[in-house]
Amino acid sequence: MMAHAVASWHEWTHIDTYRHMSSNITVQKVCEFCGQKFTAKTLFTRYCSKRCNSRHYKQLAKEEKAKLLGAQLTSTVTSPTETLASTAQEYFEVNEAAQLMRISTRTLFRLIEKKKLKKKKLLSRTVILKDDIKSFFAKQ
Ligand SMILES: [Zn+2]
Repeated sequence: MMAHAVASWHEWTHIDTYRHMSSNITVQKVCEFCGQKFTAKTLFTRYCSKRCNSRHYKQLAKEEKAKLLGAQLTSTVTSPTETLASTAQEYFEVNEAAQLMRISTRTLFRLIEKKKLKKKKLLSRTVILKDDIKSFFAKQ
């Protein structure tokens, strides 16, 4: 029992000595935000000051947000012809075709009426063939 207590006291002294030594380490580093050289107290310090730390953090968050927004924007600006080129679908329901062409179903029916766009009957359903949408856009 006594021996154990003595051993743990030694352990604590050891840890304390180690801690004391490591706190005296100085590392020359370059601030990741402002690029200035500074003396770091630990190997993991990345900034010269707390201000640079929070500023860099904010900047990264902003960039991340902009990246996300950019990705959203590019996904919504895909043109109908690009969508047609990338889809394996050969024909579309009326509402699908309208969505793809970025028009309302009413406009789509008007195009069919004016014979600007061909429609096909698939059993009782009206469908628009991919090729017909393609040739419609080709004529525009
Ligand atoms: Zn800095």
